Amino acid sequence: MHIREILADRETKFSFEYFPPKTSAAEDALFHAVADLQRFDPAFVSVTYGAGGTTREATRGLVHRLTHETKINTIPHLTCIGHSHRDVEELLEKYAEIGVSNILALRGDPPQKVGKIVQGDFPHASDLVRFIRRFSERNGHDFGIGVAGFPEGHPGTPNRIMEMELLKAKVDEGADYICTQLFFDNHDFYDFRDRCEMTGIDLPILAGIMPVTCITGLHRMAELAAGARFPAKLMRALARANGDSEAVRRIGIHYATAQCADLLNHDVRGIHFYTLNQSSSTTEIFRNLGNGALV
Ligand SMILES: Cc1cc2nc3c(=O)[nH]c(=O)nc-3n(C[C@H](O)[C@H](O)[C@H](O)COP(=O)(O)OP(=O)(O)OC[C@H]3O[C@@H](n4cnc5c(N)ncnc54)[C@H](O)[C@@H]3O)c2cc1C
Repeated sequence: MHIREILADRETKFSFEYFPPKTSAAEDALFHAVADLQRFDPAFVSVTYGAGGTTREATRGLVHRLTHETKINTIPHLTCIGHSHRDVEELLEKYAEIGVSNILALRGDPPQKVGKIVQGDFPHASDLVRFIRRFSERNGHDFGIGVAGFPEGHPGTPNRIMEMELLKAKVDEGADYICTQLFFDNHDFYDFRDRCEMTGIDLPILAGIMPVTCITGLHRMAELAAGARFPAKLMRALARANGDSEAVRRIGIHYATAQCADLLNHDVRGIHFYTLNQSSSTTEIFRNLGNGALV
């Protein structure tokens, strides 16, 4: 289903993000999580893509399996860094063939081993959005397009005014929705939403939420979401856990539940859970939010 239809009414939608597993055991575990989370009737699930094409086949394989075995709307991420027009065209052709309706269009970060931006035909995500739009027109397959938004600013953008101008450029090229980077202070999200409105961006904005599950995970999150703030309130609570891993998990669930409840009270269009391929924390958040009847 096209994302415009999925997000057509103003009811808050829930969605889940998965990454391609590396082993068959990890794939089995992922499909347990997928089955578990399906009871919450996600509007869609999305599948990450390794920048530079490092998970090209794995992402496509997982998208294919999810599309055919679960019938859930599945949105592949597609990063353009290091890719030629032909690389992207080939992927889009394959996605059109298997009935994928939407793509999350991203730049991606240069692979760490490379260390600097590898040359490709797409300097920025806005170039990818334009390319997908033109592909859609030429091939009569109208892909819905999502783009990334950064409530606290992307670390590579010189200032927050330019941040909104560059986001507006992606929107003007033909994006249909915005999904945000994870954040821990909802005020940053509400402020971002207001700034989008003031910039003339009138698209559904989905809030990215990632519950803390363990202290090592917290460090990994900080790396992946460079620029995201870790508020003192959260860090103080985690410090009180004093290394107790179950206490850390509970704090993460409690904190994310409070964030989600507040977002629901502020008419958020969607909450996108970065699940890390696990279902337990997300399930507990749903239960805490009062969706226990579904559990
Ligand atoms: C929801 C979400 C999902 C993600 N999924 C993945 C994934 O699956 N795989 C992955 O590798 N990464 C993923 N990322 C990370 C993302 O690729 C990086 O954060 C990347 O650095 C920014 O991507 P972008 O699409 O916002 O790029 P862009 O919009 O191209 O922005 C990248 C940088 O370039 C600057 N810029 C943009 N346009 C211009 C211009 N015209 N002139 C000058 N500067 C410009 C921006 O200000 C910014 O600093 C995801 C991020 C989010 C929020």
